[in-house]
Amino acid sequence: MQIAEVSAPQNLNEALSFYKRFPNVVPASGCTSLMLESSNKSISIISLHNIQELHKIAKTDRFIEFGAGVTLSRILQIPNIPQLFPLQKAIETIGTFSTRNLATIGGNLFVNGTGTLFPILVLLDANCELRTFNTIKTIKIYDLIKPQNKSMLPDSFIITKIRIPLEYSWQVFLFAKNSTNTFPDPETVLLALTADFLDSNCTNMRIMIHDGRVIRVRPVELYLIGKEFPLAGEEIETTLSIFSDLLIEQNFSKTQQYFFIENLINYLSNIPGD
Ligand SMILES: Cc1cc2nc3c(=O)[nH]c(=O)nc-3n(C[C@H](O)[C@H](O)[C@H](O)COP(=O)(O)OP(=O)(O)OC[C@H]3O[C@@H](n4cnc5c(N)ncnc54)[C@H](O)[C@@H]3O)c2cc1C
Repeated sequence: MQIAEVSAPQNLNEALSFYKRFPNVVPASGCTSLMLESSNKSISIISLHNIQELHKIAKTDRFIEFGAGVTLSRILQIPNIPQLFPLQKAIETIGTFSTRNLATIGGNLFVNGTGTLFPILVLLDANCELRTFNTIKTIKIYDLIKPQNKSMLPDSFIITKIRIPLEYSWQVFLFAKNSTNTFPDPETVLLALTADFLDSNCTNMRIMIHDGRVIRVRPVELYLIGKEFPLAGEEIETTLSIFSDLLIEQNFSKTQQYFFIENLINYLSNIPGD
C-alpha cells in the first residue's frame, strides 16, 4: 500500500471536519494493520494518533470507557477489574509486545472484517460511540453485526469511544484461539464463552465464534441454559450435534470444526469449575 498524503489533526473537531470534506481518506490509529496491507493501492490517511481525547480512559462505578486510541498495552496494564479480564486475556493473543504498544482498541474493531476484540466486547455488552461532524451515535457493539454475520463501520463515521459496563461480571469466561501473534486471516478462529451458575445450574450463557465474521451460537446457548452441570453424556452429545450443524451451515473447514468441537467438549467438561 502506498501512502499518498497524511493529515494529522490535533483535535477531534478538526478531524471530523476534515473527514467530512474528504470522505475518501482512511482513518488510521496505530497503523499496525494498515502498514501490512500488501496491495499497491495509493491512499490518503487521516491519522488520529495526536488526538488526546481519543487516548483517555474514564472509570465510574458503572462503567469503564476507553477512547478509541487507547493502546492494547495500556488496557493490559489496568489491574484488578474482573470485568476486564476477558478483554485482557484476548489482548494477550494479539501481536507482539511492540505491536500492542501501537495497536488501539478502536483500530481493532473492524480490522480485516472484525478483529479479535469484537466478539469479546459483544460478550461484555460493550457500547461504542461513533461520530461524524454532525452526528453522535452510541450503539451496542452487538448491534453492529449485520446479516451473514458481517459487520461494517457505518460510512463516514469514526469510532471515538468504547464503553464496558462494570455492573455485571460473568462467573465463567473461556477463550480459545487457534493462532496467536499473527495477523488475522480467515483461517484464524476463536471461540469464547461466558456463563453464570446458581449452584450447579446454568442460569445464563453466551457463546461467540469468530473468523472475521462474528457468530453468536444461540442454539447451543438456548439448549444449555437451565441445565444442571456437569452434563450427562447424552446432553453433551446433543450439544455437539447442535453445534456441528451450525458449523457446517456457516461453512467452516473440517480443521476449524475440529478446533471448535474439541474446545467446546473441553469447556463443557470443566465448567462450572471450582
Ligand atoms: C504481528 C501482528 C499480529 C496481529 N494479530 C492480530 C490478532 O490476533 N487479532 C487482531 O484482531 N488483529 C491483529 N493484528 C492487527 C492489528 O495490530 C490489530 O487489529 C490492532 O488492534 C489494530 O489497531 P490499530 O490502531 O493499529 O489500527 P489501524 O491499523 O490504524 O487501523 C485498522 C483499521 O481500523 C480503521 N480505524 C482505525 N482507527 C479507527 C477509528 N478510530 N475509527 C474508525 N476506523 C478506524 C482503519 O481505517 C483500518 O481499517 C496483528 C498485527 C500484527 C502486526
